[in-house]
Amino acid sequence: MEKAETIFQAVREFSDKPIKYIIYSHGHFDHCLGYAHIIKEIKQKGWDMPQVIAHENLLRRFKKYRMLDKHQMWTYRQQFASVGVTLSDSEAAHNTLDPTIVIHGNESYKFKLGNYNFELYHDKGETDDSIWMHIPEKKVLLTGDLLVSAFPQVGSPFRVQRYAKQWALAMEKMMEKNVEYLVPGHGPLFEGKENIRDVLSITGEAMHFVHDEVVKRLNEGKWFEQIYHEMLEIFPDKFKNHKYLRALYGDYRFAIHDVYRLYHSWYDTGNPTDLFPAKTDAIAKEFLKIADQSVYFDRTKELVEEGKLQLALHVLDVVIKGTEESSENLLNAYKLKVKILKRKARKETSFIAKNILNSGASPIKTKIKEFGKNFN
Ligand SMILES: [Zn+2]
Repeated sequence: MEKAETIFQAVREFSDKPIKYIIYSHGHFDHCLGYAHIIKEIKQKGWDMPQVIAHENLLRRFKKYRMLDKHQMWTYRQQFASVGVTLSDSEAAHNTLDPTIVIHGNESYKFKLGNYNFELYHDKGETDDSIWMHIPEKKVLLTGDLLVSAFPQVGSPFRVQRYAKQWALAMEKMMEKNVEYLVPGHGPLFEGKENIRDVLSITGEAMHFVHDEVVKRLNEGKWFEQIYHEMLEIFPDKFKNHKYLRALYGDYRFAIHDVYRLYHSWYDTGNPTDLFPAKTDAIAKEFLKIADQSVYFDRTKELVEEGKLQLALHVLDVVIKGTEESSENLLNAYKLKVKILKRKARKETSFIAKNILNSGASPIKTKIKEFGKNFN
């Protein structure tokens, strides 16, 4: 939204003609808001309002955002912790411009403006309401977030279901257009047929891979933990090291969750202990009856030294979750947890993973400060 003015000015630098169409590539707010300057100009000049084109699933999405606006903000504060969330974002759910042309199901929509044909296609991928656009005379594709110059955003930890298989098929449909230019949802312009074929085909291949390998393991009767760790082992280097599949936002590990979740419900361990689990605090207290805090704390430090940060977090949580009253041990456990989370965050390349680890450390830091007050 803060880029709205820059984008509006850039449009006005090459044309002063009225804006006739606004096309929502999908219902994420960074792709369907920011038109305030356009509307202001239309009103000032007395022009007709533009047509607003969207897929029917976007209407359902906006309705959901309005119903869950506070919950959405709560997730944004964690997911986007490093960039902050402003008040205008919270109002966004209630201030959307309604579509005037709605694309239903798998229909395509075509229109002509001046000398150019505009072809709109719907495919599921990052969302269920995606539209991508082809302008044949210009040999251009505008993909929305179906292409982001990085590993696709399949299975973002705070977001709803995404669609790896359909994503792959969308990449194949785009390849058939054989274009010279591709404008991604994020990142710089792609130029040249070969370069464009390369990014579309590797993205499609990665999506087929994660989908098909999880499905294969579901059919082998495997539970999530086994599928997840096997998938980590077989992640091919050609995807891992590809310049267009870097885990900048989306992440292969998130994608495994997403495909699993598409086909299987929440009972994912195969261990009946987990069907109606006790509170984690109560479980931790039982462990602290067996051995005291210092045993778990010391083992955590050893694990950190061995570089086993994830295991260290699990062991340290016994102290943190199982200890009620303020004590020096608890304070030290908090401090160590913050240190481990920060170390893990530094290693991650995904913006989302970094933000979740860092924003998870924030409430612990607040508790450390409160400790200071209590002890003084
Ligand atoms: Zn998006």
